[in-house]
Amino acid sequence: MTVVVRNVAPYGEGSVDLTFADGRVAGVHAPGTAPAGDQEVDASGLIALPGLVDLHTHLREPGREDAETIESGTAAAALGGFTAVHAMANTQPVADTAGVVEQVWRRGQEAGYCDVHPVGAVTVGLAGERLAELGAMADSAARVRVFSDDGICVSDAVLMRRALEYVKAFDGVIAQHAQEPRLTEGAQMNEGELSGVLGLHGWPPVAEEAIIARDVLLAEHVGSRVHICHLSTRGSVDIIRWAKGRGIDVTAEVTPHHLILTEQLATTYDPRYKVNPPLRTADDVEAVREGLADGTIDIVATDHAPHAREDKDCEWAAGAFGMLGLQTALSVVVETMVDTGRLTWRDVADRMSIAPARIGRVHDQGRPLEAGEPANVVLIDPSARWHVDPAALASRSRNTPFEGREMSGRVVATFLHGRPTVLNGALA
Ligand SMILES: [Zn+2]
Repeated sequence: MTVVVRNVAPYGEGSVDLTFADGRVAGVHAPGTAPAGDQEVDASGLIALPGLVDLHTHLREPGREDAETIESGTAAAALGGFTAVHAMANTQPVADTAGVVEQVWRRGQEAGYCDVHPVGAVTVGLAGERLAELGAMADSAARVRVFSDDGICVSDAVLMRRALEYVKAFDGVIAQHAQEPRLTEGAQMNEGELSGVLGLHGWPPVAEEAIIARDVLLAEHVGSRVHICHLSTRGSVDIIRWAKGRGIDVTAEVTPHHLILTEQLATTYDPRYKVNPPLRTADDVEAVREGLADGTIDIVATDHAPHAREDKDCEWAAGAFGMLGLQTALSVVVETMVDTGRLTWRDVADRMSIAPARIGRVHDQGRPLEAGEPANVVLIDPSARWHVDPAALASRSRNTPFEGREMSGRVVATFLHGRPTVLNGALA
């Protein structure tokens, strides 16, 4: 099947016709000059970027299919413009063996909405006691390159060191959920004046920053690469900036919610705003925007964390940590970074596709929009406005923090290996 996308602006820069055949970009033509294809898409006014790649998604399968399945989560991903997601390991059973990661990878292939790259657990059962079979997961059909105990910090410095040493053999990376456990016991929100006023136990920035500082030094010592999940404070940005200046092989991500929401939302006591790490201050939001703009923070990753109704429809203290993210991530980046002039569309392609693919060593994603490259492509209407209706999301869960909010920019179509997964803003 050949697809012709007419009059589209790659990176928002100048119109062309794009043709896809056999899973690849077959040609880039002057507008209106591409030969007719089996399927024609009028993309006037739309921007084309390489399909988005999420380094941090919770798909909940196996184990919590009431909250999300690989099929529902990847449908949400495709609608959000993603052509690949990395599925975190904190499932039930934990993705800590070749058998489980192969199962997740296969289920992603069967669903067909986007490529699923399983993240392998660092430690057996996420228990933080001994290393999982990292090599076996790397050698499996799932070809795991990203390892994380996300949800839990690898807090034991010796285990972290061994993990960093081990993954060098196959060019893997350890993605750290930076949370010093003793400093965050019982934590419910950002620690500061507001947590005192609200009477909620605080999650201090130093609990994140201390682990990041330790781990960039460990990565330097071992000569390995480390990735920092969902960094959220000004101090964390400063440490990453220092580490990169020193030549340490560290990368870092920020979530959409940490780019736009602040701890003030805790005053509602609505558990939809409860997330880990917690929403921080307006000054931290400004710092992560600066860090993303200047490249200190490499990527945006969603930390899409679906939770069943009973885990969120409760009082704050009992609510689960986490927010949906796949279908709203791009719009948050457009509002906070593009419409404010801090990132160009080419930068968005870098932060949401090229760099995450590079960190995850995913070779057929985040590629240029050029003939011969894999046809993983998203089409975006940059001027569209839409409102978030939780019931209309493809996820099985409803825990978006953006209910009713007007969003900027909209995914119109997504192509996975040359085949449409989304057309006219709906599943194809
Ligand atoms: Zn995490």
